[in-house]
Amino acid sequence: MVRLHPTGHHPDTPRRLEVLLEAIPNWIEAAPASVGQVERCHARDYIEQVRAVDAPTWLDGDTIASETSFEAALLAAGSAIAAVEHGGFALCRPPGHHARPAAAMGFCIFDNVAIAARHAQAELGIERVAIVDWDVHHGNGTEEIFRDDDSVFFVSMHEWPFYPGSGGPQDQAETTLNVPLGAGCGDEDYERAFDHVVEPAVRAFEPELVLVSAGFDAHAEDPLAGMNVTEDGFRELSRRSAALAPRCAVVLEGGYNLSTLPGLVAAALDGFS
Ligand SMILES: [Zn+2]
Repeated sequence: MVRLHPTGHHPDTPRRLEVLLEAIPNWIEAAPASVGQVERCHARDYIEQVRAVDAPTWLDGDTIASETSFEAALLAAGSAIAAVEHGGFALCRPPGHHARPAAAMGFCIFDNVAIAARHAQAELGIERVAIVDWDVHHGNGTEEIFRDDDSVFFVSMHEWPFYPGSGGPQDQAETTLNVPLGAGCGDEDYERAFDHVVEPAVRAFEPELVLVSAGFDAHAEDPLAGMNVTEDGFRELSRRSAALAPRCAVVLEGGYNLSTLPGLVAAALDGFS
């Protein structure tokens, strides 16, 4: 994933993973997901469309793909599956939480965390999964995949109004909880929302597994968004997320400042351990 899926000057650059692998010791390489594993969340025709890309192609207005993107997207999904099997943190790209059942969106090709959730249910004997998404953007793809599925509780904390526009205060369902936060929120705002809204809802669902869509683009120095979370804030969000279920795994989503990303991921790893 450091060498595949080159994106030019796009924010989801291979350098994101390069700086993480340099800074974080003891990582292991995961196997790619199979098409069958991806098909639990995405339409076969769409998967074949991504496989068939053989020259730089815009899959949506923000998402470029080329001849190595399919392989990178399978590796990203496979690393999320490995994370759920081992209780780990998937350092992967492209990110996944905007990917829709039959379309790429917002830098995302396959929904890595959703594929990991389905794998846990199909192969690991886990029935009830909570997905906690604190990337700064609404996890609209994950929400869409599980919207009518009462075995998966999806929570998204995100800047709103903001890209992709969904996830507002009225956008709620029995097992979908959107927590929109105004621009400029910092650690205390996130921790308060987590303690008063996210934690009680997830605990009431009684998940056997919590999967975290961990984006770091809510950081104060991220170039893409307007939040003010610090390294300590991400450590706290991680610690609180891990406490929500007996099992936990984490999947990287956004985070686009190459100089701060390794420290933020290290803080999160500290919080999850
Ligand atoms: Zn994001």
